Amino acid sequence: MSWLPPDEDDEGFEAWDESDVHVRPNPKGNKPRSKQRPEHVDAVDARVLSVDRGRYTVLVDEDGPEERTVTATRARELRKQAIVTGDRVDVVGDSTGDEGSLARIVRISPRVTLLRRSADDSDQIERIIVANADQLLIVIAAANPEPRPRLVDRYLVAAYDAGVAPLIVITKTDLADPEPFLANFAALDIPIFRSAQDAFPLAELEPALAGHTTVAVGHSGVGKSTLVNALVPGTDRAVGVVNATTGRGRHTSSSTVSLRVPTGGWIIDTPGIRSFGLGHVNPDNILKAFSDLAVVAADCPRGCTHLPDAPDCELNAAVADGRLPAARVDSLQRLLTTLAG
Ligand code: GDP
Ligand code: ZN
Repeated sequence: MSWLPPDEDDEGFEAWDESDVHVRPNPKGNKPRSKQRPEHVDAVDARVLSVDRGRYTVLVDEDGPEERTVTATRARELRKQAIVTGDRVDVVGDSTGDEGSLARIVRISPRVTLLRRSADDSDQIERIIVANADQLLIVIAAANPEPRPRLVDRYLVAAYDAGVAPLIVITKTDLADPEPFLANFAALDIPIFRSAQDAFPLAELEPALAGHTTVAVGHSGVGKSTLVNALVPGTDRAVGVVNATTGRGRHTSSSTVSLRVPTGGWIIDTPGIRSFGLGHVNPDNILKAFSDLAVVAADCPRGCTHLPDAPDCELNAAVADGRLPAARVDSLQRLLTTLAG
């Protein structure tokens, strides 16, 4: 597996730190380091809440009498590994959390899930977004910016590929009727939470978040920060202004942060992104995100590509005789085409 440094569109990715980038002079020469590593029997476990330039904010003694946030760095032996928001880690050193204290992360626990994206579809190099989330909250605006079904398809592919359950919340229903857009996903078994005019559907969302670690994703400007602030009062996630001509939001929340929802569960806010590359996804897994099409494609000839020119493809036949909406099959075919290329 390989890693890339953050790109312009990816402020939340902090897998590299200064020690990865600069070549440090080594006054002792290349003497191999001792193979004997301390066992760190005094290590305490912690949850990584946020990452900022090689400094990690972790939560120690979660839900215990001495719960505290601690600033940590990472041990040298972990310098080639990404440590991301949501990781469970072991820390040693000064884990008092007192001002000026610095603990050290010495182990990353095996991850239950890993949500990833790549810079673009031809890019096999993946960027980890978060670890150990079990739900993906896809935030979509009914308008400003215009909802893009294909971006949602990409989120869904990434979610199913990561083994994370998707949820959709639709904002800005005061600006447009979201139903024509939502019709694209009506046949999928995905919970949809609709904002009522200018109010988020908190009463429905909160129970869905309790007991889960949910990562929120969305195009810049959809109202994700506003929603997170409503779910976790006092968070102060920066709220941006959508540019009236481009419909694009400014990049206001620049880091990936884990926040405790007062009514239960954790929400992980991610920076707004405009693209969601799927170069790391096995094309065979794409159909899983289109369960409404997968049932029909089950009758395709063996090895069917499901592309417009595929002979005897059931999907194309179902569009021709009106059993399936053309837009859904087109969406799948575009993804299959870009990812196969
Ligand atoms: P983010 O980029 O997804 O985090 O979006 P923000 O939370 O920064 O919101 C972008 C803009 O949309 C802000 O000006 C918000 O006040 C506005 N906004 C958020 N939710 C709604 C909504 O339900 N309706 C309307 N009309 N505007 C909203
Ligand atoms: Zn087919």
